[in-house]
Amino acid sequence: MTSHEAPPTEIDRSVRTSGIVLQPDIPICQTDLPLDWYQKEFKPYAEEYLELPDRKPETVLPWMDRYVKPALAEFGDEVMLLAHYYMGGEIVKIVERYGGKIADSYLLARQAVLHPNRKIFVESAVHFMAEAIAILAGPDQLVYITNPKSGCTLEMMAKEFMVRPAADQLQGRYGDDLVVVAYMNTSGRLKALAGRTGGAVCTSSNAHRILAWARERGRKIFFVPDRHLGENAGARVGIPADRIFLWKGGHEGGDVRLEDWASEEVDRLDRAELVLWGSFCGVHTVFRPEQVRYWKERGYDVVVHPECPKPVVDVANGSGSTSFLWNHVMDAPKGSRIAVGTEGHFVRNLREQAALRGIEVVHVADIPGPEFEQFGCGCATMSRNDPPHLVALLDLLRRGKAPDINRVLPGDVVDEVTGWRERLDPDGQEELVRDARRSLERMIELTEAPS
Ligand code: SF4
Repeated sequence: MTSHEAPPTEIDRSVRTSGIVLQPDIPICQTDLPLDWYQKEFKPYAEEYLELPDRKPETVLPWMDRYVKPALAEFGDEVMLLAHYYMGGEIVKIVERYGGKIADSYLLARQAVLHPNRKIFVESAVHFMAEAIAILAGPDQLVYITNPKSGCTLEMMAKEFMVRPAADQLQGRYGDDLVVVAYMNTSGRLKALAGRTGGAVCTSSNAHRILAWARERGRKIFFVPDRHLGENAGARVGIPADRIFLWKGGHEGGDVRLEDWASEEVDRLDRAELVLWGSFCGVHTVFRPEQVRYWKERGYDVVVHPECPKPVVDVANGSGSTSFLWNHVMDAPKGSRIAVGTEGHFVRNLREQAALRGIEVVHVADIPGPEFEQFGCGCATMSRNDPPHLVALLDLLRRGKAPDINRVLPGDVVDEVTGWRERLDPDGQEELVRDARRSLERMIELTEAPS
C-alpha cells in the first residue's frame, strides 16, 4: 500500500527535537572546507579549526565551547540557533547541544513569529530559508546566516531575472486567471510575485493542498521552481498529465518567447491547468524507480522525498517532507528496515540515530554491485556551513563585529559564488515584505486550517 504524508489534524507549533545523540566515536565532520572558502573575517577561526588534530566530539566541542558559550551567555534567551536537517553531521549534531533547533524549511520560516522574544536568529542552512525567517520577522528581530555562499540549487536556477520574463508573458496572456504558487525553496522576490497574483507559497508537505485550493478557484497555476514537486503534487490532486505544461528552467526558461512557438505548442499551454517552471533539485533528481524496486524486492519499506521524479514517487511505499521522513523512521518499530530516498547527509544522520533504536536505514541509492550507478548525494551547498562558520559568526556578533554580508534581509539576491548580495532599499524591502507575507500567510492559513 502506498502512503503519502497526511496533513496534520493537530498542529505542532514547536520544533520537535531530532533525537540526535552525539556518539564519542563518530566524527563530527565529514569533510573540511579549504581555507580560501572562508570570508576574510572568518579565516582566523578556520585556521584554528583546521589545526585541530581530529574531528571527534571530544576535540571539536571544547574548541567550539571557547567561543560559543561566551556568546550564548552574552545574548541569553535573545539568540536562537537554527539548522536544517540536511546540514552535514557536523552542525545538526551540535546545534541542539547549544540549545538550538533543527527543523525543515516550513518550521524554520516560522521561528521568528513563534518566538517574538528572540531577537537574533543564527541559521546554519541555505539562503532562502534564512530569508523566509527575515520576511516574517518583526522589526526588532535580526537574521544571520553563517555562510552567505550557501544557496539552494532550486533558488539558483530560478532567480527573479530568469522567472520574471516567463511570468510577465503568462500574465500578459492569461491576466488575472493566472496565479503563481512558489515553493518555499525560492527567493523572497518570487514569493512576493506569488503574493501579487493572489497566490501562495507551499512546502513539500502542503504543495497538494495549495494546488487544490488554487484549482478550486479555477485559476491557471504557474508553479515555481521545482518541476518534480509540482508534477507530483499536481498528479496527487488529479490534474491529468496532458494538462501539465513544462516550461524550461534556469537561464533557458528566461529566454523563452511565446511568439517563437508553433501554434500547437501555444495550444498546449492554453489548455494546461498547471505550468511548471523546469528547475529541479540536483540532489533529488538523480533517483530512479529501479532503485526503489531493488529495496522493495528485499523487503524494505521505501520512503522518498517528493522532489524526486514522479516515477520514483509512484513506486515508493510513501513520500513526504523531511520532517515526515525523519518521524516515519523514528516512530517505526524496532527491527524495521527502511530505505530512504533523499539528501545524503540527512540519511546518514538518520541511519546513525535509527541504529541506536534497532532500526536499519539504508540510502535508496546505496546499492552494491555494478548493476546500479553509485550515488547518494548530499546537499553540498548547504554543508558550506560548518563549525568554524558558526563559531566565527557567534564570536563576531558578541564582539559587535558581525559582517553585514552575513545579515539576511528580505529581497536580498545572493551571488552564491562570492557571497555578494544585492540589497533592496528600505522602501523596496517594505514592499517585498508586504507581498511575500501575503503568500506565506496564505500558505499558513491553508495549512493550519482544520482538515
Ligand atoms: S537538497 Fe536540493 S532543494 Fe534542498 S536545499 Fe539542497 S539543493 Fe535545495
